[in-house]
Parts: sequence; structure tokens; C-alpha cells
Amino acid sequence: MDWFWWVLIIFWTGGFAWAADNIRTALRNRHERRMQLMEAARQERLAVEAAHQPPEPVCGCTHHLAKHDKQGRCHERVEVPTAWDENKKPLRYEAGQCNCQQYVGPQPLSQVFAEELTDRA
Ligand SMILES: [Zn+2]
Ligand SMILES: [Zn+2]
Repeated sequence: MDWFWWVLIIFWTGGFAWAADNIRTALRNRHERRMQLMEAARQERLAVEAAHQPPEPVCGCTHHLAKHDKQGRCHERVEVPTAWDENKKPLRYEAGQCNCQQYVGPQPLSQVFAEELTDRA
């Protein structure tokens, strides 16, 4: 019966190693697949969020819509250089007003329009 035990041992060890290898590979593949799915879902959610979010109402002068009055003039305080060194680098600043004449950024949806949308949903 000696040969039988040898065959069995070889089969066990070899078989276990093979099975363990397969399981490890399968688990790793499943893990990778899950990570890919999670990443895809995350990208999708970000895209949906971006699509639902109105664009930041920021003007070309880099200041927010709220800083502009009804006529479109920007009231944001800015630093205006008043003195320069020989390399034309500003040395001193003075508080001034942004000289933007008109808001040119995206317009946010009006409150009425937003309420209509939420009522329908
Ligand atoms: Zn502006
Ligand atoms: Zn401005």
C-alpha cells in the first residue's frame, strides 16, 4: 500500500498548490474587477454631480458675480501698484477698485426656474 500513500501525498500537495494558486488568482481578479467597478461608479457620480451643478458665476475679472452691481460694474477691492522699481516690479500697492465694467461669467439659474424644476421632480 506504500505507493498509494505516495501518490496521495503528491496529489494532495500538488493539488493544493494548484488550487490555492487558482483561488488566489480568482480573488485578485475579482478584487481588480471590483476596484474597476468602484472607480467607474465614482467617475459616473462625479460626472452626474458636475452636470447638475450650475457653473460658478465667476467673471472674467476673476471676481464673483456677487461683487458686481446691477450695471455690471465690479466692486471688488484690488491692490493697485503705485510705485515700481527699476525692473518694473511693483513696490507699493494702494487699495483700489476692480475696473471691470461688465460681468461676463455664466449666469446662475433664477430662483423661479429652480423651484419649477424641483416641483416637477
Ligand atoms: Zn467682473
Ligand atoms: Zn472684478
